[in-house]
Amino acid sequence: MEVVIKNYDVIVIGAGAAGLMCAAEAGKRGRSVLIVDHAEKAGKKILISGGGRCNFTNLYASADDFLSKNPHFCKSALARFTQYDVLDMFEKQGIAWHEREHGQLFCDESAKQVVNMLLEKCSKHAVIIQLNCHIDEIIQNKGFDVHTNQGLMHCESLVIATGGLSIPKMGATGFGYQIARQFDLTIVETEAGLVPFRLTGKIHDSLKALAGISLPVVASCGGQSFCEAMLFTHRGISGPAMLQISSYWHAGEPIEVNLLPDLDVRTWLQEQKTLRGKQHVRTVLADILPKRLVLHWCECHIPDKPLQALSESDLDVIVSQLHAWQLKPAATEGYRTAEVTLGGVDTACLSSKTMQARDVEGLYFIGEVVDVTGHLGGFNFQWAWASGYCAGQFV
Ligand SMILES: Cc1cc2nc3c(=O)[nH]c(=O)nc-3n(C[C@H](O)[C@H](O)[C@H](O)COP(=O)(O)OP(=O)(O)OC[C@H]3O[C@@H](n4cnc5c(N)ncnc54)[C@H](O)[C@@H]3O)c2cc1C
Repeated sequence: MEVVIKNYDVIVIGAGAAGLMCAAEAGKRGRSVLIVDHAEKAGKKILISGGGRCNFTNLYASADDFLSKNPHFCKSALARFTQYDVLDMFEKQGIAWHEREHGQLFCDESAKQVVNMLLEKCSKHAVIIQLNCHIDEIIQNKGFDVHTNQGLMHCESLVIATGGLSIPKMGATGFGYQIARQFDLTIVETEAGLVPFRLTGKIHDSLKALAGISLPVVASCGGQSFCEAMLFTHRGISGPAMLQISSYWHAGEPIEVNLLPDLDVRTWLQEQKTLRGKQHVRTVLADILPKRLVLHWCECHIPDKPLQALSESDLDVIVSQLHAWQLKPAATEGYRTAEVTLGGVDTACLSSKTMQARDVEGLYFIGEVVDVTGHLGGFNFQWAWASGYCAGQFV
């Protein structure tokens, strides 16, 4: 018979942003805490985030930046551990940071500093971290028995912080959903979010020549719009605008792209017509759009004539192809490259104050495994910190 090797007040499964935060907070309250993770290293996603600089929060974070079946669920945690609390935590640790566009905050130096900060906080409060630890089974038994390849551990409070399905190569698993189902919690269907689009067939053949071109656009789908950069790639389209809109896209739907969001193309072309009527559309448009893109648009989407020869219907075509280009992706690149997983443990099954399962005393879910998904821009870490902090006060 397997012998209980250690009893803990709290076991946290998952040494990511949410799990480390929760463990440190619980340790601070004097709880004995163990974190287990099947990976060989803690905080692997933090290390690769934000191009190695970790976009750790956003100055303007609010509930509006999150998708969830219940958009109100995240409000309580976000209010109890705000972006300013995150900044305070970073400043106490001496981590220098800078702001980029849209209020995105990044480390000046390296994401490693963030992992080190969390590990130091854990160590300060005597949290034990057990890596390369694979969980075989969890059984409710006056608390929870956690059967692992490193023996049987027991705890009063069990925190599931195993993240979502994105980037399986980095150790992402559906383990959190499996545990939720085991305890009869419902799962909101999961999908890859913040992910590039793949194009196929004719559209791919025609657009792949544009690979490498990036330009600011407004991308719209599912009632949402994002004004960010779009990037043509060898496989399809990416860039922040496309990553953002991917979280709102469903298979088969078109995405509308405004390639010149800051210009009224019709008025501008009419002005140009009086100034340089003999010049062709492609010459004139090359002043305001990347040349390679213009050549392609003039070959495939819009009439290329001298401006003075443009009819009203020609203008209509140009305006709609530049201001409301309709693009139908074949699919997203899926979990392989997605930054996040949409959906997850249904918030209806959790307390927004404690993150505890309503019907399973002592079982908590935090971070990305929960059906709360942020936009691009530091919001997903903000959710990990906030949900981890809140659970840490109650476990
Ligand atoms: C490339 C990339 C860049 C990103 N950049 C940013 C950014 O700059 N800003 C931002 O806000 N968000 C970013 N994100 C999203 C952000 O990383 C996640 O939302 C966040 O890490 C979620 O934290 P978490 O603690 O819930 O889960 P995770 O960080 O995924 O941690 C889960 C942990 O659980 C462990 N685990 C999983 N399954 C098991 C199991 N069966 N047994 C034991 N352990 C298990 C994993 O090994 C992992 O350590 C990025 C994501 C990616 C993929």
